[in-house]
Amino acid sequence: MKIRNQLTILFTVLTAAILLVFSLLTYISVSNENTREFYNTLKKEATTKATLLQETTVDAQTLQTIYLNNREILNEVEVAIYSPDFTLLYHDAVEIDFVKETPEMIDEIIQEGEIRFVQDDWNVLGFRFEHNGEVFAITAAAFNEAGKNKLSRLRQTLAGLWVSSLLILFLVGRYMSRKSLKPVSDMVDNVEQITATNLDLRIDTGNNADEIAELAITFNAMLDRLEDSFDAQKLFVSNIAHELRTPLAAIIAELELALSRDRENADYIVAIENVLNDSRKLSRLSTGLLDLAKASYDKTEIHFEEIRIDEVIVDARNEIVKLQPNYNVNVMIDAGDDDNDDFLTINGNAYLLKVAFMNIIENGCKFSKTAEANIHLEPIEHGVTIRITDRGSGIAKDELQNIFAPFYRGRNAPTGSGHGIGLALTKKIIDLHRGELDVRSSEGEGSTFIVSLSKLF
Ligand code: ADP
Repeated sequence: MKIRNQLTILFTVLTAAILLVFSLLTYISVSNENTREFYNTLKKEATTKATLLQETTVDAQTLQTIYLNNREILNEVEVAIYSPDFTLLYHDAVEIDFVKETPEMIDEIIQEGEIRFVQDDWNVLGFRFEHNGEVFAITAAAFNEAGKNKLSRLRQTLAGLWVSSLLILFLVGRYMSRKSLKPVSDMVDNVEQITATNLDLRIDTGNNADEIAELAITFNAMLDRLEDSFDAQKLFVSNIAHELRTPLAAIIAELELALSRDRENADYIVAIENVLNDSRKLSRLSTGLLDLAKASYDKTEIHFEEIRIDEVIVDARNEIVKLQPNYNVNVMIDAGDDDNDDFLTINGNAYLLKVAFMNIIENGCKFSKTAEANIHLEPIEHGVTIRITDRGSGIAKDELQNIFAPFYRGRNAPTGSGHGIGLALTKKIIDLHRGELDVRSSEGEGSTFIVSLSKLF
């Protein structure tokens, strides 16, 4: 069921229940008041009659006649007066004798002072009456027709009001819930229009103050992030296409040139070597891209285990030196005073970390004339810090914040020697390990890349 309808029903039922309780309380209170008033009137009439009988010379017969002639006026009151020994002193209408008094009832009246009960819809009152030192028990009974009519009218009015207010409440509830949920339905209409091709559309944030506006603002922030990452993906793909096009164009040109006429064997060898070079570049690029994709995965997709970081770094160093024998890479471990090398054991993925360190080490050698990089490993609290230092060209200040962006290459980067994905990949890998990657560099003096990895992760 839609929230709109749920709210309408809830509002109607709750308010109707409250109204019902109020109506019932009103009815009960009016009914009690009505009965109380009726008994008071009954008592007054009976007292008047008893006083009349006692104080005037009117005899019982006359009084009875008056009663019979005025029954309607006197509201059908039927009064009987007894002495405490159950002698009937007066009765309005002996032939009616509605209340069947008993000696016990008269005793109870004398003792209690007053009794009230209902008999066949008639209200009966019995009370003690004292006059000139004499005690009497008086019973008075009457049918409260006016009161009953009043209550019945009240019942009808309250029921009618309740039923009609039920309808009004339902309509008001429906209007209110529609009105308050309208921003949500507007938002649904808005969102339905947002597709991959118009990710720039945003939801109306209305008054910017209530919870719905908060939801719209959060949703817009999510769209901002989605749009950014969508744009980044698009840029990434076009960068890949661009990076692939250059070596592919070179390979095609080289092969076309070789095939354009008959050549010496030595020319063919040169052509094949050039093509091989370009193909190696392509292969490195595709490996780098694959690793980048792997490092962008969800962390749960990557296998982490206990590894020795010094072994990973030595592996990285050896692999680089095997490819570039002129590179000089030194690894130094500074275990501190206690000479305990436990800090070198961390939780991580050896392959990805090797790729990360290879990129930093290779850059260190690539961007320095001496082709040298020095690596220091030191313990830190709950982990290890690795500093990779070179005395190379250094990185310009204004470029420092860009070097970790995919496909970014600095002004110092020689053409054809890389694709600008090395540090982006390294950053992703260190992030995956919840580590920190920092760089300090000054132009002309060299750079230090600082990687901190924690055992606790
Ligand atoms: P690539 O090495 O393929 O150009 P990277 O992502 O590895 O791409 O590095 C990005 C840029 O950062 C490089 O082009 C270079 O300008 C700068 N850079 C990285 N490491 C160093 C370094 N050790 N010394 C000087 N510049 C560096």
